[in-house]
Amino acid sequence: MAKHKTHYEDCDVLVVGGGMAGTGATFEARHWGRDMKIICVEKANIDRSGAVAQGLYAINCYMGMQWGENQPEDHVRYARNDLMGMVREDLGYDMARHVDSTVHMFDEWGLPMMKNEKTGRYLREGKWQIMIHGESYKPIVAEAAKKSADKIYNRIMITHLLMDEDKKNRVGGAVGFNMRTGDFHVFRSKTVIVAAGGASHIFKPRAVGEGMGRTWYAPWSNGSAYALPIAVGAKMTQMENRIVLCRFKDGYGPVGAYFLHLKTYTQNANGENYEKKWYDQTKELVGEYIDHHPTPTCLRNHAFIQETIAGGGPIHMVTTEAFQDPHLETVGWENFLGMTVGQAVVWASQNIDPKYTNPELTTSEPYVMGSHATCSGAWVSGPEDLSPPEYFWGYNRMLTIDGLFGAGDTVGGSAHKFSSGSFTEGRLAAKAAVKYINDKKADGIKVTDKQCEDFKTAIFKPLETYQVAQNEITGGTVSPSYISPIQGLQRLQRIMDEYVGGIATNYMTNGNMLKRGLELLTWLEEDLEKVGAEDLHQLMRAWELKHRALTSQCVTEHTMFREETRWPGYYYRGDHMKLDDDNWHCLTVSRRDPKTGKFTLEKVPVYHIVDENEKKKAS
Ligand SMILES: Cc1cc2nc3c(=O)[nH]c(=O)nc-3n(C[C@H](O)[C@H](O)[C@H](O)COP(=O)(O)OP(=O)(O)OC[C@H]3O[C@@H](n4cnc5c(N)ncnc54)[C@H](O)[C@@H]3O)c2cc1C
Repeated sequence: MAKHKTHYEDCDVLVVGGGMAGTGATFEARHWGRDMKIICVEKANIDRSGAVAQGLYAINCYMGMQWGENQPEDHVRYARNDLMGMVREDLGYDMARHVDSTVHMFDEWGLPMMKNEKTGRYLREGKWQIMIHGESYKPIVAEAAKKSADKIYNRIMITHLLMDEDKKNRVGGAVGFNMRTGDFHVFRSKTVIVAAGGASHIFKPRAVGEGMGRTWYAPWSNGSAYALPIAVGAKMTQMENRIVLCRFKDGYGPVGAYFLHLKTYTQNANGENYEKKWYDQTKELVGEYIDHHPTPTCLRNHAFIQETIAGGGPIHMVTTEAFQDPHLETVGWENFLGMTVGQAVVWASQNIDPKYTNPELTTSEPYVMGSHATCSGAWVSGPEDLSPPEYFWGYNRMLTIDGLFGAGDTVGGSAHKFSSGSFTEGRLAAKAAVKYINDKKADGIKVTDKQCEDFKTAIFKPLETYQVAQNEITGGTVSPSYISPIQGLQRLQRIMDEYVGGIATNYMTNGNMLKRGLELLTWLEEDLEKVGAEDLHQLMRAWELKHRALTSQCVTEHTMFREETRWPGYYYRGDHMKLDDDNWHCLTVSRRDPKTGKFTLEKVPVYHIVDENEKKKAS
């Protein structure tokens, strides 16, 4: 253990993850906390990390309030509709009322924004999206964070949160290791903002073997945003609300610009509009929700999945009409160059020119996240002026652990934030964290060396395990006394895929399957005590796996608790196939006891604040 040097850093605000939310948090923490010590710790390199690493072609959340295009209320209604009623409207409204100011800063910082030549406004791709030349999006926001932080640590993976040993339920910082040097890093901090992205690769991906990294969601998003708070007993919400994406096959290229800007449409193998075919069946399952406009994303997925099961596939995007227009053809290709070059490469390799061949679509394996179009994540306090008592405990975006804040994919209940909304939420969390410190809520935190040393032993254990166990390797990577990170990952993915509603079962599960899945996950947890790592990179893989496994347990517990199929097209409970508003028009909240590892779940009311307020105003 002596070979792993220990570094101590004491700070006021510690930001875990330097993606969109983390850069927003770091930037804003400096604005409010001029004299405070602000540290951001990033697993990769902040210049090109997180889901926006490759760049984006559109900012998906912009109200346009200055031109009267949309108001925050409109966005709340939109998100509520898309999530079949289940959102935290206080959080959504709070993000929406601030998001335009974030986008205006991006513009000032040099992000190339496309403009509508006639109106001079930002060029709209859809009601909420504006178009950008966004290859450099991430380096631009990273620069703002770098100028704001006392220090940015790259290549450090945070593995555990530290807890105050004097006052119960208060955070005390975080620990992790440098994946290049093998050094151990202790960050004792008055507040921690977790902004570590979502979770991919917990369900078996469609592309396996050498293509395994080809998923829609960033393959490096490993659920730390969930595992870190879950491990210390923070409450989580809507973890059952995983997302399945309909995207271009194999490259997972975005379809939004195609639908919205190019006005392309989908059809089955016989050239039919298959969505209409499934209307009556879907109405049986979800009632009037199918008549909402726009059709909730999960229900469009549902039609796709049912049509494929019924033998109507492959499903195609009709591009051959739009691509006859040279301008639209250019937009179609540029759409990939700005964010998913791989899709163009896939088409080239499969001899697909979308001008002459309609490309195939697919539905992805499920992912877990809180910033894109679903609501999984931590249960956080909302803002003072908007939140009902159940949703407010003092500091905006604070989790149920004192001093621990969240933003972006970390935060549950508030979908459709996307890149701009995540950055905005980071800003909101940082402002509240600074206030928490100024209110003297973080005084007298005690973190003993023992707590840190115990984590150090745990963190580097996979290296020790491998050292010993490698002597027993019987062939290739097979050993009776250790499990490698890739072996553990594949086992996890198979459990989730087959028992918790992945692609193997067309997203179908039920109470018995989930119960069995949980048993298998418990045994996996036991075996992960024997995970071995041959080098520092594998050590990172080992910890990514542990975080994924804990996240998966939480997802499975939530899926078992909600006895209905609220979002057909994201997953199905075969034993409760119908949406059940009488019993389940509510949010689900879980807590894992850090001592016993047992989860408890509860229903929490979902408040429709926006329209309630309007009703009150009218009366
Ligand atoms: C394929 C795809 C396409 C998208 N398209 C669009 C779009 O067109 N427009 C749009 O506006 N939005 C889009 N989004 C959404 C947007 O990218 C996300 O909403 C946003 O990035 C979420 O911000 P975040 O900070 O929560 O996560 P991220 O930006 O992913 O950042 C998380 C950061 O945490 C780091 N990290 C993870 N674990 C640890 C750890 N243990 N220790 C330290 N650091 C850690 C990661 O390396 C990463 O840098 C897209 C997302 C995806 C995946």
